[in-house]
Order: sequence, then structure tokens, then C-alpha cells
Amino acid sequence: MRRREDRRQTGRWAALGAGAGLVGGLAILGVDIWPLLLILALVGVLKWSGALGQLASRTRVGAPVASARGAVPAVRFEDVGGHDHAKQELVEALDFLKRPEAAERLGVRPLKGILFTGPPGTGKTLLAKAAANYSDAAFFSASGSEFVEMYAGVGAQRVRQLFQDARRAGRQADGGCAVVFIDEIEVMAGRRGQHTSHLEYDQTLNQLLVEMDGLTPHDDVRVLVMAASNRADLLDSALTRPGRLDRQVRVDLPDRTARRQILALHAANKPLAPDVDLDLLAQDTFGFSGAHLESVCNEAAILALRDGQHAVGRTHFHEAVDKVLMGERMDRVVRSAERRRVAVHEGGHAVVAELVRPGSVSQVTIAPRGRALGYVRQSPADDPLLETVSELEGQIVVCLAGSEAEALQLGERSTGAANDFEQAWAIARRMVLAGLTDLGVVEERALTKDQMFRAVQATLGRATARVRTLLEQHAGDLTRLADTLVVEETVDGPTLRSWMAAALG
Ligand code: ATP
Repeated sequence: MRRREDRRQTGRWAALGAGAGLVGGLAILGVDIWPLLLILALVGVLKWSGALGQLASRTRVGAPVASARGAVPAVRFEDVGGHDHAKQELVEALDFLKRPEAAERLGVRPLKGILFTGPPGTGKTLLAKAAANYSDAAFFSASGSEFVEMYAGVGAQRVRQLFQDARRAGRQADGGCAVVFIDEIEVMAGRRGQHTSHLEYDQTLNQLLVEMDGLTPHDDVRVLVMAASNRADLLDSALTRPGRLDRQVRVDLPDRTARRQILALHAANKPLAPDVDLDLLAQDTFGFSGAHLESVCNEAAILALRDGQHAVGRTHFHEAVDKVLMGERMDRVVRSAERRRVAVHEGGHAVVAELVRPGSVSQVTIAPRGRALGYVRQSPADDPLLETVSELEGQIVVCLAGSEAEALQLGERSTGAANDFEQAWAIARRMVLAGLTDLGVVEERALTKDQMFRAVQATLGRATARVRTLLEQHAGDLTRLADTLVVEETVDGPTLRSWMAAALG
């Protein structure tokens, strides 16, 4: 390393000497050397300010693209919570990579690529790392955006460079193979001909296709390409056809069991107080991704530290869930009339939620967080795969209950329900398109705006009438809840349920 640097230094001095000799010679011969001197001075200033270096590094075709280069990652499949199906698919694909002879004997064409699709933060990168660990493969990861450059040909050259590096590192890895992982692949591999600077994009994608076509089971280094995307619908079909990224593994939001596993994984290095129940926490975190759950565990530990506790307790986890869901608690001063209105509004949501889905409210609060002045946390007992008409109507009813409660108890509505209406509208629209309204089976393009408007309005109208009846029947529960919220700020689900049961009895 040192000798190479010395050689470079000597070279630089020799070039400088030769340059000075040349300029001196030209001067002696009577040539006008001023323009030359001016250019040299300009280059000197640019080099000194680093601008030239930056320009060079931007255009340098072999500039590094991979953020994690060559090492076998430490993440194992056991460190990834849930996704059992995805893990199984991966292990199968990797066994082809590890034991190509067995696959060849049966005439199996080894996989060249796997595409992970799913929402952000669900563990796609984690799975790719675990896959590389499983097969002792050198792991190269890059993001699609690292291949996007304004200079033509640079992206393509970077793709070539990445595969060259992977082959080199794979040769040295124990497993004799390499995994190339490209995150956000839709950035570099969107459908060809769509970008304004499409030639550069197309060249980059073409190069990726060429590299993948060049991978054969008889190579001395076996390379498996993995890619992840939140928008698989944008990908060029040439990339997803059989023989390229032909196995698609869906990495969805975790269900309740998977959430429990992920929470356990991220809580493993934290001392937990005896009152922490990860099963309940998994139920309370419906809709959270793995990244959200990791953040909940981390925030809970930070809160415990702030409290000067030696163990992370239930209240820390509860606070952390709210923080991850709604943002930091705000010290916003709320006028007392507004406080009452927020209590009535949230109380309306909570009472109606308990009526249409008993046992679903886990907490109702009027503590301002992020942009919300209060909120009701609901956690369904099971993660639904399909939703029925009555469930969807129930969701609409809950959305409308806040504003209706304000109207009934305070005589007028406020702007606080704008977001609720948006949600209610979106659910009703979904019902129309799923053929669940009086319009029957519809095709979106065949519907006029007016037809859609009327169908949604009819659904919302029916829901509003139902909300009004429910709230009138349970006006006592609503008043008691709102009064308590004004004083205590938060009421949990079991307390609310006990009041409502007592009122009925
Ligand atoms: P993106 O699509 O935004 O790139 P991703 O799906 O690749 O996200 P990862 O980067 O793998 O998500 O996950 C982010 C972090 O979330 C991980 O480092 C890990 O801490 C946590 N995480 C996500 N999913 C899981 C899981 N299934 N098990 C354990 N931890 C997880």
C-alpha cells in the first residue's frame, strides 16, 4: 500500500518536472506561453478547491456503489421475526446455490434472482442478509438510486463493476458464492422508455439483464441476485420474467404472531419489568411493520432510561407505541372549551367503536401528539384477511362518531373531523368498487363521477343515521367518558367497557 503511494508521488514529481521543462522549452523557442500558463493556473485552483476531484469522482465509472461490500453478514434467519413462508422459499433457493450438483442431477434450473416485494420496513433487507449468511456468501448491497447518474453509461458501468466485485469476493468467501442485493430496484429498473433521460436508464437496466443472463450454474462463483421493491408494478417485465428475477417473495406487514416474535427479538437485550406482556403488546400494535416494532422497543428503553428505571415497564411500552404511532407528545396549550370538545369527539369514537366491535378499544386519550389533539387506539383481536360489508360499515360508523358526538352534545360540529370524513369517504368508495353497494358489480372506468358521489353519499347517510341512534342510546356513557377525559386525559379500554356494562346492567 505504502509502496504504491510512493510510486504515485514519484510519478507526480516526474510529470511536474516534464511539464515545467516543456513550458520552459516553448518559451525559449519564442512561443507565446501565456494562454498555457493561464490554463495551468486555472486547473491548479480547481484542483486545490477540490472541485475537479469531486467532478472526477462523480463521473468515475467504477465509483463504489455498494454500501455493504463483500463481507458475510452476521444476521441469521433466526434474527428475522415471522415471514416463515419467505424464509422457506429462500432456503430452497439457497440450497440450489449451496448444492448445485443435487439440483443439476434432477434437472432443476437454479434460480438466478429473487424479488422481495412489500411495504417499507418489513424486513426485506434483513431477509437478504440472512440469506447471504445462510449460504456463507459474500454480500453486496446497493440501492437502485446509486446507479442513477446524469452521465450516460455510468449506471451501466456501475452494474458491471458490482457484478465483477461480487464474483471476486465470492471466490474468497467460504461458500464460494455471492449475493447481490439491490434495494429500491424500481428506481433503476422501471419500465423502459418511460423516463425523459430514458437512454441512460435503459442502458443501466439492459446491463443488469445482460449480467443476469451471464450467470450460469457452471461459473466458478455462483451469484444470486436479490432485489427489493415497494412498487413491483413499476418494474420492467423483462426483469421479472422466468430466468431472471423469477421468484417473487411477498414480505407483508407482520400478523399478530409475527409481531410477538419481532417484539421478543428486539426486547431480548433489554431488561423487562414483570408487568410487560408481549402478547398484549403484539395485539396493540396492529398494522405496525418490523421497523415500527424495533422503534417501539427502542423508544420504550429510552423512556425507562429517562425515568431512571432499571427495567423497561408496561407504561414505557404503551407510551412508546403512542409515540411511534402519533409522534412526540406536545406541550400545546388547549383552551378548556376545546379540551371539552376533543373529549366529546374522542369519546364518541370510543363509545361507538365498543358498540360495533366490542373489546376493540385499547385506549382513548386527549393528550395532543404530533398533529392530533387526541385519539382512540383500537386493536382488533385478529388480523383480518378479508372485510365483510358489516365490518366496513362498522369502520365508517366509528369514523363518523366523533363529529356526530360533537353535534349531539355541544350543538355544533368543528373542523376536527376533516380527517375522519376523508377516511369514511375512502372506505365507502372502496365498498362501491368492490361491488358491495346497491350499484352492484361495477367497473371503475364505467362509473361517472356523479354515480360514485351518490353511491358514497348513500352509504355515508345510512351510517350517519346509525351513529346518531347509537349515541343517543348511550348518551350517559359518552358524558361520563368525556367528563373523565377532561380531568384525567386518558381512559383505557377495560375501564370504558366496565362503565358501559354497568350502564346496561
Ligand atoms: P425498505 O423497504 O424501507 O428498504 P425493508 O423491508 O428492507 O425496508 P429492513 O431494512 O429489512 O426493511 O428493516 C428495517 C429494520 O426493521 C431492521 O433493521 C430491523 O431492525 C427491523 N425489522 C424489520 N422487519 C423485521 C423482522 N421481520 N424481524 C426483526 N426485525 C425486523
